[in-house]
Amino acid sequence: MTITIDKKKCDGCGLSKQPPCMKSCPGNLIYKEFSMKKAVLRCGADCWDCYCCVKVCPKEAIDVVLAYEISNRGAFLKPKALDSNTIEWVLQDKQGNSTSYRQSTQYLPLEQDAADETFTEIGEGI
Ligand code: SF4
Ligand code: SF4
Repeated sequence: MTITIDKKKCDGCGLSKQPPCMKSCPGNLIYKEFSMKKAVLRCGADCWDCYCCVKVCPKEAIDVVLAYEISNRGAFLKPKALDSNTIEWVLQDKQGNSTSYRQSTQYLPLEQDAADETFTEIGEGI
């Protein structure tokens, strides 16, 4: 799978020379096209689906591309940035049932048990 950048939602993060999506990609796959003031994905085939870029985009302009067999039937997985520390994922299946999960986007302090970092399911049928 890969990601897609919505050109209507992406504002290039204003004057930023290194928008968060670009900085966060471990594969250096995203760059800013300054003439268009938009982020561009260099090579979707090299994306390894870490979704760092999806999570950091303040405009929710980056979407997860699900496999055709799933997305063609109306399923999707979309992020929603609630604040700078929390992200909510909305997962909808092909029957239209949806579930939301909230997750911290911050590193845990070292003394905290890593097992505490789990998805929190917050509801169904949104
Ligand atoms: S972080 Fe989002 S809004 Fe900013 S340049 Fe990247 S895709 Fe566009
Ligand atoms: S999902 Fe990960 S590897 Fe793919 S473009 Fe985004 S940050 Fe880069």
